[in-house]
Parts: sequence; structure tokens; C-alpha cells
Amino acid sequence: MRRPRAAAVPPLLLALCAAAALGSALGSGPAGADEVAPPQEVVAGHVLRPLPLAGRHVVIDPGHQLGNARFPAETARLVEAGGFRKACNTTGTATDAGYAEATFTWEVSRRLAERLRRAGARVTLTRVGDSADRWGPCVDERGTAGNAEGADLKVSVHGDGSYAAGAHGFHVIAGDEASLRVAEVLRGALEDAGFARATYVAGGDGLDLRTDLATLNLSQMPAVLVELGNMRDAGDAAVMTSPAGQERFASALASGVRRWLR
Ligand code: ZN
Repeated sequence: MRRPRAAAVPPLLLALCAAAALGSALGSGPAGADEVAPPQEVVAGHVLRPLPLAGRHVVIDPGHQLGNARFPAETARLVEAGGFRKACNTTGTATDAGYAEATFTWEVSRRLAERLRRAGARVTLTRVGDSADRWGPCVDERGTAGNAEGADLKVSVHGDGSYAAGAHGFHVIAGDEASLRVAEVLRGALEDAGFARATYVAGGDGLDLRTDLATLNLSQMPAVLVELGNMRDAGDAAVMTSPAGQERFASALASGVRRWLR
């Protein structure tokens, strides 16, 4: 025998509807006196949210330079590296097919710069292009970039070159404990974007603390160096040399920078 349909709305459902209506009313009510509304810009009747990185200054350091190999004397010159001296710059690594690390770091860095500028940040790049006719800048210049302007953060972009079998994945290097916190945030953003932690360095946790890198040692702001993958690994190389892969790296790093500077 069929049960008769209930003509009335069950009491529990009514209670839920009332609670939802109350929640909605509370959510749209006026802000309390102790809440300060964020600055807003109104254009043609539309309220625009403030840009998330407005007032922030980020230094992006695209590792190496495509022409470094053609200027051995200039790049071998010793420069200050943070209590010791080190070669001005190195050629960087490449994929087995010859795609240079310098080009990879430039492609990711310029995309990252574009994203951060769109989010309102001031961005300083330590080099302006990727050219076989240029060398440097030296690591002391990369390390001090942004110091005088009081920049908020430095991200140095690199790719690794390990011949160990199966070596792949990214790791993030910091020079001190404060920068290690930034490294953790960027590691999280890269993992959220689907990138795998390095299998062959940094103890497997994707984080490394090093005091031999001038770019980090000379920075007077939180600074990290990201080794985004192993260019000698076929799988990593396929991602690192493709525009889509470079866009994914830039997007993940931009997300990490926003998380840190928020
Ligand atoms: Zn490098």
C-alpha cells in the first residue's frame, strides 16, 4: 500500500530554511565598527577590488645568460659572494637536446614578472633579455639587486643538470632560516600545481639550506633560488622546454609569491 504524500513541508526543512535565511542576513549586514573596509576604487559604477600585490616589490633573477659561454674571461672574474669570492657567473646547464638553462630561466621569469605586475607588484628583473651576445650580470649584482630599494622578496630561477639515473623534480634553496619559510611556501605552490619534489637532492623534502650562493648571501630581503627541474631528465625537459610548461611554472611561482606577500 502506498503511503500518502505529505502535504506540508517537514518541520526540519523549515528550520534549515530559517537558519539559512538568518545566515544570509547576517552575512550581508553592515560591517561592525571595529572593521576597517579595504580601500576600493570605483570606476563607472563598478567597485574594483584593490590589486593584491599593490605596493610590493619583487626581484626576479633569471639564472645565467645565454651568451655566458662566449665570454669565459668576463664570467670567470672573481666577485664578492658573501664573505668569500666566487666566479662572476656560469654557463648553466642544458637539456640533452641543447635547450639552454639560461633560456628556460628567462622564459619562466618573464612570464612570472608579467603575472606579478598584473597583480599590482613592482618587479625588477636582474637581466633584460636572453641573448647569445651578452653575459652576466655577475652573481654579486644579482645578490644586491633590490637591496637599496628595500624590495620585499627575491626569487632566483634556475634549472638543475644532474646525470644521475632517474633524477627529476624541483627543489627550493634558501640561505637562511627566514628565507626557508619562503621556500616552504613556494614548495607548497609548486606541489599544488602538480610538480614533484626532487628525488635526488635536498634530502627528498624539496628544501635545501645553502650558504655558498652569492645571489642569496648578498640579498638583504627574504630570497630563494628555485631549481625547477632536472634538465637532463627527459620527462622534466619536456615540461621545461614547452611554453605550456613554462607557463605552469610561472603560474605556480606567482601563486607562491602571492601567498607569501599576502
Ligand atoms: Zn643555474
